[in-house]
Amino acid sequence: MLDSRPIIERIYLDKHVQNSALAKLILKKLSHVPITMVSDKDRFFKQTESITISAGKRTLWLTEFKGPFLKPCPATGQDYLCCQYWTINAQTHCPLDCTYCILQHYLNMPLITIYTNIENITKEMNILVKNYPKRLFRFGTGELTDSLALDPLTRLNEKLIRYALQKKIILEIKTKTDLIEHLPKIPKSNVLISWSLNPEEFIKTEEFKSASFERRIASALTVIQKGYRLGFHFDPLLILPGWKKKYKWLIQELTQQIPEGDVMWISLGSLRFPPSLKKIIDKRFPKSKITTAPWVKGLDGKIRYFRPERTALYRYLYAEIRKKWKKVFIYFCMENPTVWQEVMGFSPQSNQDLDYLFHKSIYQRFADLKLPVPNLKNYKKMITLLH
Ligand code: SF4
Repeated sequence: MLDSRPIIERIYLDKHVQNSALAKLILKKLSHVPITMVSDKDRFFKQTESITISAGKRTLWLTEFKGPFLKPCPATGQDYLCCQYWTINAQTHCPLDCTYCILQHYLNMPLITIYTNIENITKEMNILVKNYPKRLFRFGTGELTDSLALDPLTRLNEKLIRYALQKKIILEIKTKTDLIEHLPKIPKSNVLISWSLNPEEFIKTEEFKSASFERRIASALTVIQKGYRLGFHFDPLLILPGWKKKYKWLIQELTQQIPEGDVMWISLGSLRFPPSLKKIIDKRFPKSKITTAPWVKGLDGKIRYFRPERTALYRYLYAEIRKKWKKVFIYFCMENPTVWQEVMGFSPQSNQDLDYLFHKSIYQRFADLKLPVPNLKNYKKMITLLH
């Protein structure tokens, strides 16, 4: 039984995209949903200002995107190491409803927006890959939305998967759903489906409309059979009552049920958000406990747990994972070199170094991909040009 299927109650359709293949596909699948044709976008945008975030999550806006779909990960300032991931932003906003979701504050258009001119995505990827053949690009669709929440409607990922299988790149599809039935069977290679993980008690109070922990693990086991590799993101880690016991149980379940050899990477990242999000969380989710912790404002302006708390949290999780999984690549998302050093006993020297470490780990652990030999000097040169 699927438990994270979105509910869409209204569609706004930009009249310029009414004949696009993707718009037609979505309208066919949602033939029961009322449609409003939009010809005056300025007026429409003004009207959307009064739409609440909650209503926006049940509403689609189909339009085109004039800018580039690919973006280097926005990172978070020079004091925190960034892995130099590339995001594919074909949709913005998300039907799931996590209390901590930064999109509530970040995007000024409250509707779930699907861009229909997606044929440009692979063209942009081609240019990057052709210009930097020695770099192992990691691309992902889950930055401004959940990668799979709307995928049964759009089937976007299937196009990207087919593309990725022809190239020496890594494609990551990140989700908190169990919507994997439609994903095609593929030869085991360079595409991974990743789940963000939290204990079930935290999912119930902070990650509304997402799949349960049990369903996420069951889905991961299913996609292994379909030929995908896996990633797991312990992000955002939450310091809530009982966190130690709960994360310990979660890691035991994960490492018992999932084979390490199928897992390409694991990230650790603790809760962080811009101060102005706090008001939105308190208003939309008055029962959430996440904003009550003692906070420090980081050098990037975001608030996060104090460093000793973060370090204790990471040390605990890192040690628990390493008890069972010795080889999987583990990295921090948006952490500073001191934390790396304190938890892992080393720190990448730079963002380029961290990017290179991904390549090295994948090269060593997944020989079937026949990747180019990683070379740190090349990375330094290439990435200075790109980021
Ligand atoms: S799944 Fe991600 S994008 Fe969707 S609401 Fe949760 S944090 Fe936001």
